[in-house]
Amino acid sequence: MRQRIAVVGGGPGGLTFARVLHRHDHPVTILERDPAPDARPPGGTLDLHKGLGQLALDKAGLLAEFQALSRPEGQAMRILDPAGTVLRDWRPHPDDRANPEIDRGQLRDLLLGPLDVRWGQGVTRVVPGTRDGVLVHFADGRQEAFDFVVGADGAWSRTRPAVSPVAPHYTGITVVETCLDDVDTRHPDLARLIGDGSVAVYGVNRTLVAQRNSGGHVKVYARFRAPLDWHTNLDLADAEAVRSSLLTLFNGWAAPVLDLLHHGTAFVHRPLYVLPVPHTWPHVSGVTLLGDAAHLMPPLGVGANLAMLEGAELAESIATGPADLDEAVRAFEEQMWARAGRWAKITMAGLERLVSPDPAQALAHFEQVQPS
Ligand SMILES: Cc1cc2nc3c(=O)[nH]c(=O)nc-3n(C[C@H](O)[C@H](O)[C@H](O)COP(=O)(O)OP(=O)(O)OC[C@H]3O[C@@H](n4cnc5c(N)ncnc54)[C@H](O)[C@@H]3O)c2cc1C
Repeated sequence: MRQRIAVVGGGPGGLTFARVLHRHDHPVTILERDPAPDARPPGGTLDLHKGLGQLALDKAGLLAEFQALSRPEGQAMRILDPAGTVLRDWRPHPDDRANPEIDRGQLRDLLLGPLDVRWGQGVTRVVPGTRDGVLVHFADGRQEAFDFVVGADGAWSRTRPAVSPVAPHYTGITVVETCLDDVDTRHPDLARLIGDGSVAVYGVNRTLVAQRNSGGHVKVYARFRAPLDWHTNLDLADAEAVRSSLLTLFNGWAAPVLDLLHHGTAFVHRPLYVLPVPHTWPHVSGVTLLGDAAHLMPPLGVGANLAMLEGAELAESIATGPADLDEAVRAFEEQMWARAGRWAKITMAGLERLVSPDPAQALAHFEQVQPS
């Protein structure tokens, strides 16, 4: 009899896992807390790397569709200093497909395809080793048993406590996100500043990054070092108060750069949390984690890539690997821990350099990661 498999979370990792299992005709139950796919804004653009996210999409049979949707020109990167001087203006070669960008909503729809997600299923607890198997508890009080449960439920995973007592900790760096719509028609000067991809401005202990999404939408990220309670005297729901606080924080920066904040339409606070490195656990029969649930790291362009590749690899090894599920999952975990551990160290060091007392560190980091 086939195993009853569930994945908690329909983000990039959970959906890739389900899609690859589906490709192998293996049934899987997808439990997602959001009540519908469009219940909240899907978030900004993601760059998918050739050997990571793109490899995962290949395993799901979706690489050609991704290539048709993605924006290779979005790899362009311009770096300015706070005075507005352009320090670097990197543009990809026309046939460069190393890290093309895709909107999260487009990626979600691509992965969803024929999958049947159970929306509005907030999981509160996962209990392995019961007489019925792994028991999943839901927010509405129901319970359901499975043979194998994958926690792909992100940073604040409710599956994680089934295998590990560890929780994310604050990095000391926070982000306030805002956005611009119809940038080409409403803010042509900013559209030119941002170009086809991203613009990043590095100052002392703070940075501003603007990233073009499709359809003239731009996400702007103000990153700075601050204690977790930096906003004690600020109403985060009051957009004008947040704008004014950010303008004070970035005081003295060139006017065209500050226009990214002047024209931002809504502000969302996202303090950056991470899991310790390495984060491993003694194998627990019937449950594992992948993606941010397993290895939350700074958002420097790999988290979704890793989640997707892990989802694809785990699904493949269930469908085609050893008959003993525990053996397959143990091998998967070892591989995930080794690869994610390497990336967690790289991204943590990268974050320290990108939001640094010495902005020259940020430029040096860019020179190291940019291929040409
Ligand atoms: C600003 C920013 C930019 C980024 N840019 C990039 C990039 O360019 N490239 C890249 O690779 N990564 C990027 N990342 C990181 C990336 O977003 C994450 O690493 C990635 O989304 C993790 O995928 P996941 O599937 O593990 O988890 P998530 O994307 O967090 O998905 C988890 C899913 O689980 C659901 N869920 C949560 N709790 C429950 C529950 N209790 N019950 C049921 N469902 C639940 C959630 O609703 C969600 O759908 C960025 C992150 C940020 C913040």
